[in-house]
Amino acid sequence: MKLVFATNNPNKLIEVKALLPQHHILSLQDIGCFEDIPETEDTIKGNAILKAAYILKNYGYHCFADDTGLEVEALNGAPGVYSARYAGPDCNSENNIQKLLKSLNTHANRAAQFKTVVALTTQTKTLTFTGICKGNILIEKHGDSGFGYDPIFTPLGFEKSFAEMTLLEKSAISHRGKAIRELIGYLITK
Ligand code: IMP
Repeated sequence: MKLVFATNNPNKLIEVKALLPQHHILSLQDIGCFEDIPETEDTIKGNAILKAAYILKNYGYHCFADDTGLEVEALNGAPGVYSARYAGPDCNSENNIQKLLKSLNTHANRAAQFKTVVALTTQTKTLTFTGICKGNILIEKHGDSGFGYDPIFTPLGFEKSFAEMTLLEKSAISHRGKAIRELIGYLITK
């Protein structure tokens, strides 16, 4: 079965291809998709479904797509679905981190969770798989690995941030790792 993974992130693609050897996984590049796929829903799940459905509708391939957000308890779940552009439309990870640290300045409650939803869309159905990783927001950045909010997030039960872990260590416990493993559990029965 040919299946598109709607991502431009090469690391995610390598990881998923290795986990699904019996499936022919195509990238957006493989199908000639170089456009910005809309992410205009106001939920993480909505955006994951929107991206997968867009590829099915416009390119005719069965597809899965992921969307992720960081939900901070003291901020009522913000930045959530807006995690990528928390500090504004042209912001980068550093701007987002600084805004989050400032917003949490006065809060003792540092609890947060990453949530990933993977949506799988075929002609006949749409399924979603969710992965959550609970943890805490640090007072300042720690580590240089990873991306996004990794330097300020420590998963529960660990003394180090995501940015102080190897990719393998992070994948074993991360929101995205969990959601992808749920998807794989479903696909290997097909
Ligand atoms: P996306 O849905 O994977 O594009 O993620 C949306 C935003 O959430 C990204 O721009 C990152 O800022 C953040 N993000 C997603 N996944 C992670 C992660 O594993 N660690 C840290 N930040 C992440």
